[in-house]
Amino acid sequence: MIHFENYVRPESFEEAYELNRSFRNVIAGGMMWLHLSDANYDTCIDLCDLGLDKIEEEEDCFRIGAMVSLSDVENNEAMKECFGSAFKDALKHIVGVQFRNGATIGGSICAKLGFSDIITMLLPLECRLIFHKQGEISLEEFLSQKNQRDILKYVLIPKKKVKIAFESVRMTYTDLPVLNVCGVKKEDGFHFAVGARPNIAVLAKEDETVSFGSNQRGSKEYREHLYEVLKKRIKDALEED
Ligand SMILES: Cc1cc2nc3c(=O)[nH]c(=O)nc-3n(C[C@H](O)[C@H](O)[C@H](O)COP(=O)(O)OP(=O)(O)OC[C@H]3O[C@@H](n4cnc5c(N)ncnc54)[C@H](O)[C@@H]3O)c2cc1C
Repeated sequence: MIHFENYVRPESFEEAYELNRSFRNVIAGGMMWLHLSDANYDTCIDLCDLGLDKIEEEEDCFRIGAMVSLSDVENNEAMKECFGSAFKDALKHIVGVQFRNGATIGGSICAKLGFSDIITMLLPLECRLIFHKQGEISLEEFLSQKNQRDILKYVLIPKKKVKIAFESVRMTYTDLPVLNVCGVKKEDGFHFAVGARPNIAVLAKEDETVSFGSNQRGSKEYREHLYEVLKKRIKDALEED
């Protein structure tokens, strides 16, 4: 079981950042993933007093606070209007409603989980992240960074009207995905993000090669086959409208 000596609710980002510089301390999002660990930390840093729990619609983007729950992202009306059912399709398999009420978008990105449906969903939308120290960077750049201990404040999703569709394959409805794919149709063709390869999601154009591996959920060969099937489903869905 995870264990903390202290629990702190910082009143500023700088205070949270300074505390998080020590590897003995840890930031808590919804703690849904974190609590599975049996690590011993000095301090749990709870960002709940920093006003990061809102989705704001700006002229050119949605600005989502890192502490916004997955349920709020899934059910936001303005986002549904812009992206159709894609966010719902991506999030609906994640455990259950109560779980998604607790898990946060910030924790879901910062955990960099290979099977993440959320990261696969966000990648083709060219979303940007705002960190306390580094400022604004792309999600892709963040995924390539190692051991950074910055504080994620906001996720910016450009409000472009894009045709987007999400598909995943799971052994049972709420299991972790064997493979997940999100596709968008752009002027130069289809672009896909592919996750649960089982490694973290990558972006690829329609004819680009994606590398796959094996784990207990599926073999490399099975994933290669599934990728072709999911790509076809997504292309059919995007060409239908
Ligand atoms: C049983 C189970 C099944 C799951 N199934 C799926 C699934 O099918 N598909 C899927 O996509 N996901 C799945 N997940 C992952 C889940 O959706 C969340 O992504 C995960 O729980 C992390 O979100 P959290 O808010 O709980 O983060 P936490 O567990 O609180 O934190 C995760 C990490 O992010 C760091 N962190 C949190 N917030 C910030 C911040 N603002 N700045 C910097 N660092 C931060 C924490 O320090 C920690 O290292 C599953 C998780 C569990 C436990």
